[in-house]
Amino acid sequence: MALTEVAEPEPFEGTLLVRALQLGICGTDFDLIAGDYGWAPDGCGHLVLGHESLGEVAEASDAGNFKKGDLVVGIVRRPDAQPCVACAVGEWDMCRNGRYTERGIKERHGFGAQRWRIEPEFAVKVEAEMRAVGVLVEPASVLAKAWEHIEHIGRRAHWRPRSLLVTGAGPIGLLAAMMGQQRGLAVHVLDQVTDGPKPKLVEDLGAKYHTGGVERLGFRPDIVIECSGAAALTRDCMLHLGSAGILCMVGSSAHAQDALLDISQFNRAMVLSNLAVFGVVNGNRRHYEQAAEALRRASRSWLLGLITRREPFANWRAAFERQPGDVKVVIDLASGA
Ligand SMILES: [Zn+2]
Repeated sequence: MALTEVAEPEPFEGTLLVRALQLGICGTDFDLIAGDYGWAPDGCGHLVLGHESLGEVAEASDAGNFKKGDLVVGIVRRPDAQPCVACAVGEWDMCRNGRYTERGIKERHGFGAQRWRIEPEFAVKVEAEMRAVGVLVEPASVLAKAWEHIEHIGRRAHWRPRSLLVTGAGPIGLLAAMMGQQRGLAVHVLDQVTDGPKPKLVEDLGAKYHTGGVERLGFRPDIVIECSGAAALTRDCMLHLGSAGILCMVGSSAHAQDALLDISQFNRAMVLSNLAVFGVVNGNRRHYEQAAEALRRASRSWLLGLITRREPFANWRAAFERQPGDVKVVIDLASGA
């Protein structure tokens, strides 16, 4: 990982020239830096990091609805060049052949530069009042997709869910809980930590914070959104779902976790209680728009509390050093290097 001078973005990269404001850091960035994941663009020896963006339009030539000064978030994924059935209709988040690309992750430079360009159809407008929290739109888009799919699956039968359990109180889990609260559910969040900002963020949402095992909750949730990626916890959630319950996995697991699952026990739970267990990744344009709307309706002060550290550009390296009490860390790219 290095800070380096790169060329001015080329007009072919998009008709919107954007002055970067903020960049959010997430677990995928740590995987990229460790070399565990990610691909540089073809013929390029480096990958510009950054997929959680917020910027201000500096030039909008032939850019439809955008004008100079608009706040925008960049969509991360691009459909494959010869699109599969999903990509062909704008649902690149459901890409079937894996030949999609992703800014800052897979074969396309990211948004971790002071200026970047984007195609208007891959830019999402954010209201001016959202300037301080708009960087949360990209992570929230994944949860908007999770909720959309949970509700689609829920419509398989008459179903009136009351309780939500979110496992993992990082930024993804907290945004999942926020959207559960917006749906009028009784929200429970389970994590390991007993101090730091997470318990209070959960309580401020009007939700209940838990530590310890799922079996000690005292109830079986109708919906679980699994955001920890912890294998044993995921298994316990699968076995403690309420009848007709839906479990959505958002957190991806590190390899080689030692957790056993009795498939016959899981099978009986699935069959006898009509359970649904599924996973989601990424989001399409519709989910970014749903995310921006959910954030707009949320408490601004609560959202500001999710961003626990803002590093000035000159101190960018510190953003990639994990500190106790971090929830979401952002780099203020507009502050000058
Ligand atoms: Zn595709």
